[in-house]
Amino acid sequence: MEQNQNNWLLTNWISNEGASRIFIELKFTLRDCNSLPGGLGTCKETFNVYYFESSEEDSRNIRENQYIKIDTIAADESFTELDLGDRVMKLNTEVRDVGPLTKKGFYLAFQDLGACIALVSVRVYYKKCPSVVRNLALFQDTITGADSSQLLEVSGTCVNNSVTEEAPKMHCSAEGEWLVPIGKCMCREGYEEKNNTCQACRPGFFKSSPQSQLCSKCPPHSYAHQEASTSCVCENGYFRRGTDPYTMACTRPPSAPRNAISNINETSVFLEWMFPADTGGRKDVYYNIICKKCNSISGLCEECGIHVRYIPQQSSLRNTSVMVMDLQAHTNYTFEIEAENGVSELSIGSRQYVSLNVTTNQAAPSPVTHVKKGKIAKNSISLSWQEPERPNGIILEYEIKYFEKDLETSYTIIKSKETEIMAEGLKPASSYIFQIRARTAAGYGAYSRRFEFETSPVSFAATGDQSQIPIIAVSITVGVILLAGVVGFLLSGRRCGYSKAKQDPEEEKMHFHNGHIKLPGIKTYIDPHTYEDPNQAVHEFAKEIDASCITIERVIGAGEFGEVCSGRIKLPGKREFPVAIKTLKAGYTDKQRRDFLGEASIMGQFDHPNIIHLEGVVTKSKPVMIVTEYMENGSLDTFLKKNDGQFTVIQLVGMLRGIASGMKYLSDMGYVHRDLAARNILINSNLVCKVSDFGLSRVLEDDPEAAYTTRGGKIPIRWTAPEAIAFRKFTSASDVWSYGIVMWEVMSYGERPYWEMTNQDVIKAVEEGYRLPSPMDCPAALYQLMLDCWQKDRNSRPKFEEIVSMLDKLIRNPSSLKSLVNSSNRVSNLLVEHNPAGSAVYRSVNEWLEGIKMGRYTDTFMENGYTSMDAVTQMTLDDLKRFGVTLAGHQKKIMNSIQEMRAQLLNGMVPL
Ligand code: AMP
Repeated sequence: MEQNQNNWLLTNWISNEGASRIFIELKFTLRDCNSLPGGLGTCKETFNVYYFESSEEDSRNIRENQYIKIDTIAADESFTELDLGDRVMKLNTEVRDVGPLTKKGFYLAFQDLGACIALVSVRVYYKKCPSVVRNLALFQDTITGADSSQLLEVSGTCVNNSVTEEAPKMHCSAEGEWLVPIGKCMCREGYEEKNNTCQACRPGFFKSSPQSQLCSKCPPHSYAHQEASTSCVCENGYFRRGTDPYTMACTRPPSAPRNAISNINETSVFLEWMFPADTGGRKDVYYNIICKKCNSISGLCEECGIHVRYIPQQSSLRNTSVMVMDLQAHTNYTFEIEAENGVSELSIGSRQYVSLNVTTNQAAPSPVTHVKKGKIAKNSISLSWQEPERPNGIILEYEIKYFEKDLETSYTIIKSKETEIMAEGLKPASSYIFQIRARTAAGYGAYSRRFEFETSPVSFAATGDQSQIPIIAVSITVGVILLAGVVGFLLSGRRCGYSKAKQDPEEEKMHFHNGHIKLPGIKTYIDPHTYEDPNQAVHEFAKEIDASCITIERVIGAGEFGEVCSGRIKLPGKREFPVAIKTLKAGYTDKQRRDFLGEASIMGQFDHPNIIHLEGVVTKSKPVMIVTEYMENGSLDTFLKKNDGQFTVIQLVGMLRGIASGMKYLSDMGYVHRDLAARNILINSNLVCKVSDFGLSRVLEDDPEAAYTTRGGKIPIRWTAPEAIAFRKFTSASDVWSYGIVMWEVMSYGERPYWEMTNQDVIKAVEEGYRLPSPMDCPAALYQLMLDCWQKDRNSRPKFEEIVSMLDKLIRNPSSLKSLVNSSNRVSNLLVEHNPAGSAVYRSVNEWLEGIKMGRYTDTFMENGYTSMDAVTQMTLDDLKRFGVTLAGHQKKIMNSIQEMRAQLLNGMVPL
């Protein structure tokens, strides 16, 4: 009630324990001034809180003005007389914080200027983030920062047996909460995480890197006896390669290859074997060939030496076959085929191999290497040579080919039994190229390298401006000398038996132009290989186009040598029109350029509406290009697949007729295509089909369908006639076989011939007389034509000319195409007749689906028109997906069963 009150209450010195922000919680009661009788003039309802920082305890004599005010505290609730009567305690709680503190401790002071107040409790505290283990890192107790919004970054330490992956950090908030963990620790090798600690792997388990979460059981053929193992040790006889992961089973070397067989062709041997019964648990099995030449009498063997060639290679073979070439004729060899794998070198066990004894056949002679010039005259050159190093038999005769240098397309061939000849009728002072090859009962050997000799010059000079008389005189003189020479030779030959072309009745002389015996009036295909300079061939057959005439618009395909684009060409004085442009990608080799332009050299010789037409080539600027007519619908196989079932039979036969007509033209020209297949036919917007994809030997190299045969060549097996596969007999008749396959592809809208059968199975089935069954809804006449094309005897196959006229007949008389091969009967009959014992035969779609436990789809199949088993065998995965069979497991079950049926069907293909 007194005036000017100023009462102070001071605390003891309080240590702040390192905290820089402290909190003060005050609990107090306060009397409502209005409830005080008459004392309103001095009554207050607030009090003040102060603090004073000090590092020592005994700073007792602090002046009032040295205190720093924290706040004036007012009560939320005050009490009255009535409350006192009711014994109600209206306790107020207020919290204030102070910081940053800079000294070790502080005093708190409370100033009351006249309030009726009871300070019940004062709690002074600070906040901290409590010690915690998070992500295997330990974070110690951390006192919060001075600022109320401050996050303190705290580094953690990895718990025992753990290592940092990324330094672990967390943030301590002003409220004492851990926030934003960064980085972590991981249990090191041999330890795994359990309840925020790292515990050792048990025996039999291992952990090879901190990154893996848990210890793993030791893989097969390995063990770990110790706790905390970081890897498992391989059992005796099992190994682990440096690159093998620790989680992989320990493996061992493979057993020997099995069932090795050899196939001898003259001095080449094709070896084939089966992979080992035990691969040692590895996929990286490879094979090495050890070749030994053996003496048939002493039985002693020696290494074959370096001149023997192996295709693809001698060691580290991944495939189970190899071609060994350049062996000696009529010689015994032993081949050891050794199997190894990635751990063979770690094992000291014995070599695992299978061995084969082989005797090579008689072989063609090796090339003639030593050629000497004899007498040289103005018009003749005589030559002699030595028998080849390896005649491989008795030499029956030699063939001598010669031509004037740089004029290789016109050459002469002489055959002789002797090792010398005289080439006559040559031009004076001219260089001639000679090549010689020998023939034995085994056939011709390879030609020798080229030998160049020059005839001697005429001994006087005749120039254009001399008068005619001396020229005639010279001519007569030369004529007389020549005549005398010839007569002289003839006489001398007769007298002394000097063997010459004209004296030997068995010596033939023939003249050739571009590889063909010159016959007037018939245009024939000229192999660009016969040109020494391939550039000359290109420019003989293809027009050079200036690159500025060509506009490239977009990429439409990928060829072996570069992109295929569409674009436009505008030649001077002609209308602009669309073209296809094949480009040769940058960085090509000389050979690639030659092969690339080789196609143009061939295409440029053809002129037929069903052969892709060459516009020209760009060789004088880069990129090098081949420009052809543009075929809007691209390749035929893709086009048919895209338009499945969209064409009438007549339209399909029209396409086939075009292809046959193009092929007739090619066979008339003497060109054998070797890779006739729907993918190599192009089709334009008028559905005109044209044969494309011409090339030299490389044609087959770039066809993804081509596979290596036992003879080392690459052949598109499914399209190729058996004699071409077996002994490379490629002829127009083998093209006819391929044509039959194209017919089948067309009539089945781009179905893959022989479906998913392997190449080996195809060869076997065809050899055994089985043929593709008729495509669905195929006119009987067309299927019969296919079967004719697939006659085993190539001479019995129709000629392209006959095929064209037969198709013409069918087109003229469409009712002949009405009779279809009754495929539904055929399918079920074949399945019954040729069904392998034990496998199921299904008479209806329902029965089949029930049989494979897919009966739920019966209605779906019926609604989508798959009402017969025949239709079902034609079905694709896309069909299944389209009509809503979406579960991958069901799709797989159904497609596997369909494929099985197709294989059965094929086994039951019409035997001829
Ligand atoms: P190729 O290297 O000849 O097999 O060509 C590759 C792809 O380019 C072919 O499969 C066709 O799709 C396309 N193509 C090639 N030549 C032409 C052309 N003249 N017209 C249209 N497309 C073509």
